Amino acid sequence: MTHTPATSREAGPATFSSLDPATGKVLADHPVHGPADVADAVGRTRRAAERWAALPAAGRRSRLLAWKRELAGRLDSVASTVAAETGKPRTDAELELLLTLGHLDWAARHAGRLLRRRRVGSGWLAANQAATVVHRPLGVIGVIGPWNYPVYTPMGSIGYALAAGNGVVFKPSEYTPATGVALAEAFDAAVPEFTGLLTVVTGAGPTGEALARAGVDKVAFTGSPGTARKVMAVCAESLTPMLAECGGKDAVIVTADADLDTAADAIVWGAMGNAGQTCAGVERVYAVREIHDDLCRRVVERAGQLRPGTGTDASYGPMTMPSQTQVVARHVAEAVAAGAVTALGGGDSVADPFVAPVVLTGVPEDSPAMTEETFGPVVVVNAVADAQQAVDLANASRYALGAAVFCGSRRTGARLAARLRAGAVSVNSVLGFAAVPALPFGGSGDSGFGRVHGAAGLLAFTAPQSVTVRRFAPPVDLTSFATPAARKARAAALVRGLHRRR
Ligand code: NAD
Repeated sequence: MTHTPATSREAGPATFSSLDPATGKVLADHPVHGPADVADAVGRTRRAAERWAALPAAGRRSRLLAWKRELAGRLDSVASTVAAETGKPRTDAELELLLTLGHLDWAARHAGRLLRRRRVGSGWLAANQAATVVHRPLGVIGVIGPWNYPVYTPMGSIGYALAAGNGVVFKPSEYTPATGVALAEAFDAAVPEFTGLLTVVTGAGPTGEALARAGVDKVAFTGSPGTARKVMAVCAESLTPMLAECGGKDAVIVTADADLDTAADAIVWGAMGNAGQTCAGVERVYAVREIHDDLCRRVVERAGQLRPGTGTDASYGPMTMPSQTQVVARHVAEAVAAGAVTALGGGDSVADPFVAPVVLTGVPEDSPAMTEETFGPVVVVNAVADAQQAVDLANASRYALGAAVFCGSRRTGARLAARLRAGAVSVNSVLGFAAVPALPFGGSGDSGFGRVHGAAGLLAFTAPQSVTVRRFAPPVDLTSFATPAARKARAAALVRGLHRRR
């Protein structure tokens, strides 16, 4: 079965179809926006953004909260759209929306205080200057989104960019265009006088590329590292700054004293939820040898009860992107060929579009199942000698996005978390950070760079402007040709002396 969005050019402007990933049936047709359409969208958004930036912070806050209330009112219909386009269960789509509302609320309420002009100390050499800094919006942000969390993920950029005073042109994934359109429609309904501030352009890679070329002031990209490299190359041509939220190969460490039921439950949810198509999903588990077999048994017991499919009793849905099924199949096959043990499922579990849960153990560290993003309902539970080896192996990935530690002692868990090369770590839960809007989220290495969410996620869409105002003439003006050299030398000696003493 092929269910890649198809493009048509038969009459009028080109369109493409979004498809139900479970059946391949057409859901709707959407325009393929080309460079001219994208340029128009950026121009329209820029005009609205100028008015938006000129509003007092309280004006933006009240309007963004109106949008939040509108989205809360439309939650059922937007969740249905998300479920239809991604194939994920309705309840998962609702949770995604609830998390998003929390983030939008936080961004709207905190932007004014975090970004407003504030005084800073001016130092000995500039004691006569009043120094302030303000974080100003960049202008128009081009947001390029993925399909796996088509509301939560792009809204980490869209909501925070708008709260920081920018306009946004959003290019949703070609797998989830109607979800993107629904977000903008809710904005226009709630804030009609700023129609155009959030504009959606639809299409596949070329539309995203056109957006990166369209003179936006920053690109906020979420997707795979391979695409991030292409977008970055385009941004490099015009020195357009970029934020890259890419994939992950998240590790979970389980120590000997951990609550194994809690750990197993969280591992199964983190690995299999959304059919494993979560950037910060659980892909690798390092369990110390004493409890490894016990943990595996509990993981297998829980994962074995899951049922992929459609309908209200499905644990998770189909693979949204068909090509990913082949990646999952290759990872499982290569792991087994290299000597891995299939504790649950195996090669036969991987079918298009539904992949049954797979639990592997004893997978060699150089196997693709350990080094590449699998993005399917597959989890590897490997045994390690101790927590130190677990940390070393967890850190040995080219990805560095999220991680989790399960440990009997919260203090030891936090210490282990501090040693992990990851942008966000949960202790005794998985993905605990995703529901806390004040916490920045992002990675390094092949997981990308920059942060969404929290204060850092607001600052990401601003540029600081520094201003000094001379309050009085300095006793010795070091920046004037009129000051005699001897006075300058005495002042310099005084300041140097101060630095040597402190
Ligand atoms: P993808 O890289 O295939 O596509 C992402 C977006 O980029 C889509 O909108 C696509 O149309 C667009 N695109 C494709 N080619 C382009 C080009 N040349 N120029 C500009 N835009 C282009 O990724 P995907 O399959 O949609 O998403 C899955 C990936 O996203 C996974 O790797 C997942 O881990 C990652 N992800 C990361 C996060 C995070 O916050 N770190 C969140 C969700 C998903």
